[in-house]
Formats: sequence, structure tokens, C-alpha cells
Amino acid sequence: MKVFLVHAHPEPRSFTAAMKDHAIQTLTHAGHEVRVSDLCAMRFKASLDADDFPAAADPAFFKAQAEQMKAHETGALAADILAEQEKLFWSDVLLLQFPLWWSSVPAILKGWVDRVFTMGRVYGGGRWFSDGALRGRRAMCALTTGGPEGIYGSRGRNGSLDKVLFHVQHGMLAFVGYEVLPPFVAWSAARVGDDGRARYLGAYRERLLTLDTTPPIPFHPLEHFDEKLQLKAEFPGEV
Ligand SMILES: Cc1cc2nc3c(=O)[nH]c(=O)nc-3n(C[C@H](O)[C@H](O)[C@H](O)COP(=O)(O)OP(=O)(O)OC[C@H]3O[C@@H](n4cnc5c(N)ncnc54)[C@H](O)[C@@H]3O)c2cc1C
Repeated sequence: MKVFLVHAHPEPRSFTAAMKDHAIQTLTHAGHEVRVSDLCAMRFKASLDADDFPAAADPAFFKAQAEQMKAHETGALAADILAEQEKLFWSDVLLLQFPLWWSSVPAILKGWVDRVFTMGRVYGGGRWFSDGALRGRRAMCALTTGGPEGIYGSRGRNGSLDKVLFHVQHGMLAFVGYEVLPPFVAWSAARVGDDGRARYLGAYRERLLTLDTTPPIPFHPLEHFDEKLQLKAEFPGEV
């Protein structure tokens, strides 16, 4: 397998970084190819703005998706975006490694998605969800949290982790075509002690070695929705 690991933590000695190193070592030893984008170390530009498009289609009014489309068609996407897209389309599996910040990904990782998942190349023109440009590939979030597992249960104070991560797992990853695997979570990583963290690394190893066989989250495919993009009545519950 070809695995693209996108890591977003500013501290190289953090536990999140230890998980990243563990993933590289585990996957490489198992014979997989791994490429890594360490976004903070790269000082990856986090904001999608007009600076990405020096040859703007409309210099008077910045319209991000129109500029992405034009830059894709004319081969004028910024070099750092193209380099990330090359790794994206090279890989079979995308691993997002991050600490949960404000119930989301750190801004630099959100900015990576904003800039790298460009209209024209990664989505658009009717390509989305199960028809998305990255269909046939798998993605997984691997994260650390401050809060303990119970807080992210269905009746926990922070809401279920499925709901917390829905915008990432469904709104970003499934949207562009990935089959999304259940996340790997190191709960309360700073509070569980060295033994707890060692157990997390062991459990993470098991998940890394089953990336190709773990059943994905069963998000509804496009055919489950009607012409108004509503879930058909035969499928109970929420999206
Ligand atoms: C802006 C912000 C917003 C946040 N929002 C949320 C939120 O919404 N929800 C939530 O739950 N939490 C939240 N948090 C907390 C955050 O999720 C946790 O602090 C973070 O996930 C902990 O992971 P870390 O990698 O940063 O841990 P660190 O504190 O860097 O590491 C924990 C410990 O692991 C040790 N360690 C490093 N390497 C190893 C190794 N190889 N083996 C064993 N131990 C090792 C380190 O020395 C350290 O003692 C937020 C934090 C911030 C800064």
C-alpha cells in the first residue's frame, strides 16, 4: 500500500508526533510505502487566498473556487498545492494525524484541505461522495484528545465523536470520494501516563496493519438520496 500521512502538530516531541513516527515505522516495516507531510515543520501556508493565484481570473474580486478551476485548467496551481496533490493521487490511503483542537482539526490542517482539495482537480463537475475523484481509496483520522472517551459518548458532554468529526470524515474525506475508516483515538493522551500511551501505540499498530481490511464507516452512497438530495424514506435515521 501507498500511505500518505499528513501530520499537524507544532511540537516534534508531542505524543501526536510520536504516533506519526510510530506509523511511519510500523507501515514501512510491514512493506508499505509512506510519504509524509509534516505541515508545521513545512510551514505550510494555511489560508486559501488571492496570493495562491498570481494570474487571477478576476483580480478585482477573489472567488476561490473559480480561481481553483482556472488554475487547474491552465496548470497554474501553486507549487506547494501541486506537490500535495501529487502525494494525494499517488496514495491508496490518506492518514490525517492531529490533536483535536476546538472539536476539529488544527487550523493548519483545515487550511491544507481548503488549499489542496481544489475544485476542478479533487471535486466538482458532478464528482462527489461515492463518485468523487478519490474514490477507491481509503482515509483515516488518527487523533489525540484532551477529553476522556466518555465525554465523547452519545450522551457525553461534548457530544459523540461521530458527530464531532462528521464535518471532517463526511464533509471533507467522504465528500471527495474516500472510504473513511473509523478513527483511531488516543483519549486524554497527556493524562494517561507512559503505560497508557504505550498501550495506545500498541493499539495504533494493530489499526495501521489492518488499514486495507478494516470496514469503512457506512456512510450512505449517492443512490440512497432522491432528486432533491434527501435521504430516501426507506433509509431511517439521519445522514
Ligand atoms: C487550541 C486547543 C484546543 C483544544 N481543543 C480540544 C477539544 O476540543 N477537545 C479535546 O478533547 N481536547 C482539546 N484540546 C486538548 C488537546 O486535544 C490535547 O492537548 C492533545 O490532543 C494532546 O496530545 P499532544 O500530542 O498535544 O500531547 P502532548 O502533551 O504533547 O504529549 C503528552 C505526553 O506524551 C509524552 N510523549 C511524547 N512521546 C511519547 C512516546 N513516544 N511515548 C510515550 N509518551 C510520549 C509527552 O512527553 C507528554 O508528556 C485542545 C488543545 C488546544 C491547544
